[in-house]
Amino acid sequence: MWSRDKLLSFVGRFFIVATVTFIPWIWIGKFYILLVAHVSRIPLAIMGYGTEVVTGGEMGVGILCRGKFIGLADAHLANFNIIPFIALVLASFVSKERKIWMLMVGLTLLFISHVVDLVAHFPAFLASSKPATVVVDSIGIVGASLPFLIWFAFSWQDVFGVRTPAEVEVKRKKKRVHECPICGVRKVGIIAHIKAVHGDDAIHEEEVLKFLEENPELRRML
Ligand SMILES: [Zn+2]
Repeated sequence: MWSRDKLLSFVGRFFIVATVTFIPWIWIGKFYILLVAHVSRIPLAIMGYGTEVVTGGEMGVGILCRGKFIGLADAHLANFNIIPFIALVLASFVSKERKIWMLMVGLTLLFISHVVDLVAHFPAFLASSKPATVVVDSIGIVGASLPFLIWFAFSWQDVFGVRTPAEVEVKRKKKRVHECPICGVRKVGIIAHIKAVHGDDAIHEEEVLKFLEENPELRRML
């Protein structure tokens, strides 16, 4: 389990990053909302809702559908769970590589949830659909907890002291595809391959020793 000092340091880092990222988001978020709106038009069209994204005019940004206008102005400020997620990731005590991976997975999931949320508004309000209303209502709660849930899925081992971030990465590296230094085949579990195909003694061959020097995390598999 994280110590009190580590937890406090994490919370401090989180608030600083959240504040700093929120400022550009006020501007970038407007474009993000337009991206969500344009992507949402595809499932909406399949569901039979012909839509048009409106950016100018006196009513501001929104979507026109069946003669009704659904306003999106400031939606990015109300639904800005991207910011706490980015702050959680950047405040984490993990390598840059791991942070990029967390951001890629997490931002994709958040984007999908934003599209689902927007799409569900149409059957909920234009056709009084019960299931769609449930989605719209529940996504408020889901949206608030989603950044934390995604972050936690990546970080629980570190938080509870099961594995440090470095150990998690070593474990991931072991699972990577490696090229066999003897026959050149590419596969996961290369040590098991070397032993099985080239014999136990192959581990002591010069090219294998050199390979292990370059990939020290595989030594533990011997
Ligand atoms: Zn081989």
